Amino acid sequence: MELTDSVSEIKGIGEKTQNLFNKLGVGSVGELLTFYPSRYDTFNDPGLISDLREGEEGVVCGLISKVVEPRYTSRIKILTCQLTDPSGSIECVWFNQPFVKYELRSGYHFILRGRINKKGNKLQMEQAKVYKREEYYKLQTALQPVYPLTAGLTNNAVRKAVKQALTITGDFPEFVPLKIRKEFDIIKKNHAVEEMHFPKSEETMLEARRSLVFEEFFLFMVFIRQMSQGREVLDSEAKISDDGSCDEFITKLPYKLTKDQLNVFEEIKKDLLSGHVMARLIQGDVGSGKTVVAELALLMTARSGYQGAIMAPTEVLAQQHFEAMSRDFAPFGIRCCLLVGSMKASEKKKAYAMIEAHEADVIIGTHTLFQEKLVFDNLALCITDEQHRFGVKQREKLNKKGVRPHILVMSATPIPRTLAMMLYGDMDISRITELPAERLPIKNCVVGQGYRNSAYSFIKKQVEEGRQAYIICPMVDENEDSELENVTDYCERLKELFGDSPVVEKLHGKMKPKEKNDIMESFKNGEIDVLVSTTVVEVGVNVPNATVMVVENAERFGLAQLHQLRGRVGRGDKQSFCIFIYGKESDETKERLNVLLKSNNGFEIANEYLKMRGPGDLFGIRQCGEMYFKLGDVFNDASLLNSANEAVASLSDKEMDCIVQKMYDGGAKEVFQFFNNYVTI
Ligand code: ADP
Ligand code: MG
Repeated sequence: MELTDSVSEIKGIGEKTQNLFNKLGVGSVGELLTFYPSRYDTFNDPGLISDLREGEEGVVCGLISKVVEPRYTSRIKILTCQLTDPSGSIECVWFNQPFVKYELRSGYHFILRGRINKKGNKLQMEQAKVYKREEYYKLQTALQPVYPLTAGLTNNAVRKAVKQALTITGDFPEFVPLKIRKEFDIIKKNHAVEEMHFPKSEETMLEARRSLVFEEFFLFMVFIRQMSQGREVLDSEAKISDDGSCDEFITKLPYKLTKDQLNVFEEIKKDLLSGHVMARLIQGDVGSGKTVVAELALLMTARSGYQGAIMAPTEVLAQQHFEAMSRDFAPFGIRCCLLVGSMKASEKKKAYAMIEAHEADVIIGTHTLFQEKLVFDNLALCITDEQHRFGVKQREKLNKKGVRPHILVMSATPIPRTLAMMLYGDMDISRITELPAERLPIKNCVVGQGYRNSAYSFIKKQVEEGRQAYIICPMVDENEDSELENVTDYCERLKELFGDSPVVEKLHGKMKPKEKNDIMESFKNGEIDVLVSTTVVEVGVNVPNATVMVVENAERFGLAQLHQLRGRVGRGDKQSFCIFIYGKESDETKERLNVLLKSNNGFEIANEYLKMRGPGDLFGIRQCGEMYFKLGDVFNDASLLNSANEAVASLSDKEMDCIVQKMYDGGAKEVFQFFNNYVTI
């Protein structure tokens, strides 16, 4: 079987399972084999009942007694038993799992593994998995892969499919040349892939992972080298000039640009006037004022008779840019046009016509800007805000749409400079490191739910002083996860509590776009005081009058996300506050949230994360949505990225060509697809 064959070729995978796999992005056998476990379960030695602690997962070997037949309590079927070892005894409880009864036998020893919770003043073990002793000891000898699943697909089903695929498919092509594999101790791809799914030991699994991450980074660096070689020679056909509008724009601003903003704009101006195609990344922390720099670049382009486009990651943000820019550009005779997915077909058609006829100079949209149907008239500048870099495909598409446009990417991802230089080797980098001068540092606190009422009083006071607040909940409604706060119920509760004032409204991704826009509009105009929202406001949203950010279930969000959310306040000259409320407390949560207390600076937070190296990728770049590697984490695997960079730099042009050719020929289509599809909204 070929790696490119569909997973449906595997025995036991019918249409239903195939659809489930597709949902996970697994279509071909090759994709199945590179669908790696998200973690490995380890089976610890059983401990003593007297050592069990609330909140942890406990494993105990003990004698089963007092099995109580499943019975109904308020619509939940409950099964209980008693587990006893020499140190004590604990009650075990199963909710809605009556069938566990058949696994339990009174008077026999079993190993039970489950979450320890407190009921009254006693500990109990909940929803435990029941193992025969021999069975458990066997599991202990190997790491057990745990796959990121979707409803309907079990871990076992994935394992079985992978096992089959491994035995019947041919070899993975080796893209990394032998010379380099030897130099960097990279094991064979086939071997590494197998080891990821069926690890012999933690050591061998880590070795396999190292090899696969190296390959990922290596191919990425090859791609970057290709991109950067391609662009040196590109002359720009756009004749952009400076007619003084930008200076006028700057003097009209209600504030003074910071030194960094001015410097970055100077760099952009130089690029635009140089006659070469610009490819530049602006890196600047949340709230550092990137938008106005983008506006200046667009203004200069538009005043030179060309079109400029800016792409935002969400419609809310696109709408916001559209309003701000329509207002700011009007005095210069520059016309703006909005193009987003939720517009009616007739509205879109009108927008297309306007753009094609050059009745619009600045086009603001989401990924709709890449629609085949859209024809620009002399597009000379393309900006992405808070987004991924442009992939090859997008650049190609854009090239077809006008003269070869200048490219500007704006990012708030706080990656260190050395890392940025590697990852964005195909771009020049500008940085905005200072925040506007009159900003007061945001005051932060991390508190338990007991503090909630004080937070409400505080919000009330702030609103009375004319300010506004955001409250972020992780869920939309209660169906999703009843343990977490949800926007719908939360908003109702607050409305009841606050009465007429402060005015509370909700915002979430399931609402219709028009509704979302209206709510956002009213919040901006100050008709709404408190906005209860999901993370739809996470990036880019700018309401400088909002001074309070409350994040509920803060433990559920990654550091990067929390930092972005916090960035919604502290955007004006008033003191702002951020209150992180956690639901379930743990040492890991505390440590993570405390990093946010220490600093308001994204770069410092990233560094702190590097020191912490907490479990998983709390601040992995994949969380920031910036770059998606299957296994690699550019922070935690920074040294591997360095090695890959070194390795690619050492290649001769001929060797490079060879590898690229091999990637195109050798079924590495998905590798290129992956790099090509940076825009993954
Ligand atoms: P981000 O870099 O996160 O995209 P924005 O461009 O949205 O930040 O800017 C945040 C806020 O700061 C906006 O309200 C903007 O008008 C304001 N701003 C930008 N530059 C300055 C400056 N030099 N002085 C004062 N306020 C500024
Ligand atoms: Mg922004």
